[in-house]
Amino acid sequence: MLQTVRGMRVVLPAENRRFRFVENTVRKVLDHFAYEEVQLPLIEATELFSRGVGEATDIVEKEMYVMQDRDGDSIALRPEGTAGCVRALEEAGLLYNQVQRVYYTGPMFRYERPQKGRYRQFTQIGAEAFGFTGPDVDAELLDLTARCWRALGVDEHVRLELNTLGSRESRLAFREALIAYLTPHAHELDADSQRRLTTNPLRILDSKVPRTREILEGAPELPQFVDAASRAHFDGLQRLLDDLGVSFVLNSALVRGLDYYTHTVFEWVTDRLGSQGTVCAGGRYDGLVETLGGRACPAAGFGMGLERVMLLHEVIHPDALVVEQSVDLYVCVQDVSLTEAALRTTNLLRDGLPGLRVRTNLGGGKLKAQFKKADASGARWAVVVGGDEIARGTVTIKPLRADDGEQLELTVAALIEHVARASKLPG
Ligand code: ATP
Ligand code: MG
Repeated sequence: MLQTVRGMRVVLPAENRRFRFVENTVRKVLDHFAYEEVQLPLIEATELFSRGVGEATDIVEKEMYVMQDRDGDSIALRPEGTAGCVRALEEAGLLYNQVQRVYYTGPMFRYERPQKGRYRQFTQIGAEAFGFTGPDVDAELLDLTARCWRALGVDEHVRLELNTLGSRESRLAFREALIAYLTPHAHELDADSQRRLTTNPLRILDSKVPRTREILEGAPELPQFVDAASRAHFDGLQRLLDDLGVSFVLNSALVRGLDYYTHTVFEWVTDRLGSQGTVCAGGRYDGLVETLGGRACPAAGFGMGLERVMLLHEVIHPDALVVEQSVDLYVCVQDVSLTEAALRTTNLLRDGLPGLRVRTNLGGGKLKAQFKKADASGARWAVVVGGDEIARGTVTIKPLRADDGEQLELTVAALIEHVARASKLPG
C-alpha cells in the first residue's frame, strides 16, 4: 500500500471532531469582531514570497515547495497567508485609502522536519487588518485572540509575549550594530549563525546553540535602537492591553522569522506542547504592501496554527469531544423493492428533523441484521420502511435504547413530531 507523503496530514473523523470544534470556535470569535472571510489561492507566484516574506528567511531559503508550472513559471505552495492576502486585496483595489478587516483559513505548506505540532501541511487561521496606523488595532487583534483562548478553555495555559522591532530605520540601525558586534566573533558562531551574519543577522538572536548564546549576552539590544514614535506606539498598546485585561510579558529577544514585521510583534506561547509551543504569532507589517508593489498601507495581523491549538485543547480537555457523534435515526428497509420508498422517507425525516443525523441502511440484508447495524451505529431509534406500512401510509419506529417507550406505527408526520418531542428539538 502506498503511504501518505511525509509530513502531510490526514485527519480521521475522531480527530476531526476536535479540529472542527477549534476552527468553528475561532471563526465565531472572528465573526463576532466583524472580520470578513476571504478565500485565497493555495498556489502563488514564487516571487510573492521571496519579495514578501524575504529572501533570507527560513521559509524562503529552505521550506518552500517550489515547482515549475507547465509554461515554465515558478510557482509555490503557499507557506503562509499574509503575502497572498495583501496581493489579493491590493489587486482588487481594496487597500488604498481604505480600511479592511479580513480572515482566511486553510492549509499552508513548509518543508520542515515533521514532528508533533510541526507538519509539512498544516492549517492556519489568519486575520489581517489594513489601514489602521495606531496601536488600537494591534490591541484589537490581541484581544480577539485572547477571547479565542477563553472560548476554547485554554486561556490559563497560554501567555502573550510582546516586543517592538521599531521602524524599518531603527531595525536597520540595530542590524548594523549587531553585525559590527558579532563580526569579530564570527569564527566562534555556529554554522547557521555565521551564514545569517550576512543574510539575516536578527535571526541569530533566535539561536539555541550554547556558545552562540554566550556571545549574544554582550550583544547590543534591540530596545536601545527603537525610535521614539515606535516607543510611543508600543506604550500605547500596552496601556490598551492593560485596560482590556489582556496580560502579556515583554520579550526583547522576540524578532519573528519573517522579514515584513515592523513595530509590534507577538507570539502566544504554551508550555504544554514541548518545543512546538507557539500557537499563534503575528504583528504589524506597515512596509509589506509597498514592498509588494502597492501604495503604502499600514497593516497588522496574526496566523494561528490550528493543529497546535487542537493539540493544546486535547491536553487540557482530553475528555471533551471524544464521544462519537452517533446517528440519531437509522432507517431499515424491509425489502430491496422498497428502496425508493425508503430513500424518499429518509429525506422526509431529514426535512422534518433538520438537527438530527439520519442514516439509511444500504446494501439490503435481513431486518434482524439491519437492526444490529442500527444498534452499532449508536442510533436511538430504528425506523422500518415495510410493505404493509407503506400501503397504510405509515412507518414503524422502534426504540433501541432503554426508557424510550414502545414500538409504534405512525405516519411520517406523526413520527417527526414524536422524535422532535423526545429529543427536545424546538418545533
Ligand atoms: P515556528 O517557530 O514554530 O517554526 P513560525 O514562526 O515559523 O513558527 P509562523 O510563520 O509565525 O510560524 O506561523 C504562525 C503559526 O503557524 C505558528 O505560530 C504555528 O502555530 C503555526 N505553524 C507554523 N509552522 C507550522 C508547522 N510546520 N506545522 C504546524 N504549525 C505550524
Ligand atoms: Mg518555522
